[in-house]
Amino acid sequence: MVILGSLRSMLPTLIPKWASSSFRPLPLRWAPARMCNISACSYKLRNVDLHPLWRTTIDVPGGSRQSPIDIRVLDSVFHPQLTPIRTQYDPNTCLHIWNNGYSFFVEFDDSTDKSVVSGGPLENPYRLKQFHFHWGVNNDWGSEHTVDSKVFPAELHLVHWNCSKYRTFEEAIMESNGLAVIGVFLKLGKHHEKLQKLVDILPSVRYKDSLTEFNYFDPSCLLPSCNDYWTYSGSLTTPPLTESVTWIMMKKPIEVDHSQLAVFRSLLYTAVGEEEKNMVDNFRPLQPLMNRTVLSTFQPALRLSHAKKSEEHTHRQKAG
Ligand SMILES: [Zn+2]
Repeated sequence: MVILGSLRSMLPTLIPKWASSSFRPLPLRWAPARMCNISACSYKLRNVDLHPLWRTTIDVPGGSRQSPIDIRVLDSVFHPQLTPIRTQYDPNTCLHIWNNGYSFFVEFDDSTDKSVVSGGPLENPYRLKQFHFHWGVNNDWGSEHTVDSKVFPAELHLVHWNCSKYRTFEEAIMESNGLAVIGVFLKLGKHHEKLQKLVDILPSVRYKDSLTEFNYFDPSCLLPSCNDYWTYSGSLTTPPLTESVTWIMMKKPIEVDHSQLAVFRSLLYTAVGEEEKNMVDNFRPLQPLMNRTVLSTFQPALRLSHAKKSEEHTHRQKAG
């Protein structure tokens, strides 16, 4: 996820001034299959020329609950008490869209409880602050989280903060149970009608630091129809990488078509007058799960089929 949008005041310390001449976008993490092979690892070690966002010592904070992670389906634990999450978004709270030099943000008025998420693992409502995406240079990668090593071309993050516990978003991002982020995978498929309103406005925020009005948008249209999700405790995926996030990763991806993702890729990391660098591969590499459990609202399908087989086996034995 990206929190820069609401940390504009901290930008000078987080992002050193960078010369566009020496800048190259985030390097590829590893092959789409995310196999750790010698070339991938050695490539990783050579990663000295990163997006300016990552040119700080906090790149590796040494935490124990960092994000993103690879969600291992069979290792996730079905938790029947987890209720569906409930989003209630007022399209009138949608304010504007801007290019922060790493992604584009759609920001919301969070001074009231008009747009909130509740339910699921959340003890109280969390207010919607912004949403943004991460995507790849092509359709083979781009998501931050993966599912059994499967990578998606893009991932949506809807960022909410705990307004019962904290006074401001800026306070919440530094504290435990401060944030709740809904993650949605984007896969290549049908044209997404509702997303198109957003895609159409993107050319107006092509350059870094550009901002334009964007009103009356209800982002619940970007959620999948299926309510199943995984949830785990994690972190921001951009500096300051604080471990303040309850992640809610929707199981079912939404579909978008190639032309829509192509417009994402036409955005620029760079400001007007700088050498143009396309905004692509704006994701953080996978982080170790460590001592964490991923909970799910559903029984993993393989277990079900396994259970069915063993049930059939029992029936056959009885019949025999
Ligand atoms: Zn993000």
